[in-house]
Amino acid sequence: MAMTDPASPRLEVICGPMFAGKSTELIRRLSGALAAGRRVRALKPHIDTRYHATHIATHDGRLLPASTIARPEELLDAEGDLVGLDEAHFFRSGLHDAVRRLLGRGTSVVLAGLDRTSLNEPFGEMAALLVEADEVVKLTAPCAVCGQPAVHTIRLFDSKEDIVVGGAGMFENRCRRHLIEPRPTALRPAIPPSRL
Ligand SMILES: [Zn+2]
Repeated sequence: MAMTDPASPRLEVICGPMFAGKSTELIRRLSGALAAGRRVRALKPHIDTRYHATHIATHDGRLLPASTIARPEELLDAEGDLVGLDEAHFFRSGLHDAVRRLLGRGTSVVLAGLDRTSLNEPFGEMAALLVEADEVVKLTAPCAVCGQPAVHTIRLFDSKEDIVVGGAGMFENRCRRHLIEPRPTALRPAIPPSRL
C-alpha cells in the first residue's frame, strides 16, 4: 500500500443476544477512535428510549453522546470518518443500502445489534450486514438456566411484534440445550407464601 493511500473504510458488526455487552463494545470502539483523533458520530434509532434520549447507554451505565435517527437513510447525513449505530436491528429495511453508501464514500461503520429474533430467525437485515462486514464480533451472555455462554434470547411474554423495547425481566438468554425447556423463570408459579 502506498503511504498516501487513505485507510480503506471498514464495516464492523457487533452482535449477540441481549445483555451480552454489545453497547459496551460499541462504546469502547468509538471511544478508541475518538482518542485517536478520528471524527466519530454515534447514532441510535429514536424508538430506543431506554435510559437516556441523547446518549448510547450500556446496561452498566456508561454513556456516549449520540444523535437519534428515525430512518436508516439519515445515516448518510452523519459527517465523520466513523459512524457508530446502536440497536441496528431496529431498522427492518434500508439499513444495508445506507451502510453500503457510507462505505462507498469512505466512511467506516460500526453496528451493534441483535443478530436473531426471539423466534431464532435472522433479525431484519442483520444477516446481510454480517455477510457484508469486514469484522464480526459475536458476543455471548450466560444462559439463565445453566450459566454457560448463550447466543439465544427468549421473551417472557406473549407478543406478535418482532420489536419490543425492554430490558431485564422481559427477556432471558438461553444456551442451545435450554432453548425450550425449562420454562422461563418469570413464567414459573410463585412459591406459596407458606413455604417461604
Ligand atoms: Zn443452558
